[in-house]
Amino acid sequence: MECAAHPGTAASGTCALCSKASCEPCLTHEVDGATACAVCGPREDDRSRALGSALITFVGAGYLAALAIGYLVFRARPFVGGIAAVVAIALGRALQLYVRPRVVTRRGPAPRPS
Ligand SMILES: [Zn+2]
Ligand SMILES: [Zn+2]
Repeated sequence: MECAAHPGTAASGTCALCSKASCEPCLTHEVDGATACAVCGPREDDRSRALGSALITFVGAGYLAALAIGYLVFRARPFVGGIAAVVAIALGRALQLYVRPRVVTRRGPAPRPS
């Protein structure tokens, strides 16, 4: 099998995301431990970052919701804010680990044939 981007170069693996055969220099990224090509790798990296910022917003909203519930249940006692923060941060951490793909850049992209 030949690399999809470099005809004449033997493929050493496939991209885990688009399943294209790729040579070793083309497999520039790792997503959750699986090799990914120079197209899919950076895209997953962007997606992971976008998910990260979406989660921060979500955690912020979760904090406010926990705070509101805390005030309804316990009234305005001083510990309510602390509990809401702990709950929101713990939830955010758990979601980060569970939802975000872990993207590792193995090397810079391979030069394309001109
Ligand atoms: Zn790919
Ligand atoms: Zn290649």
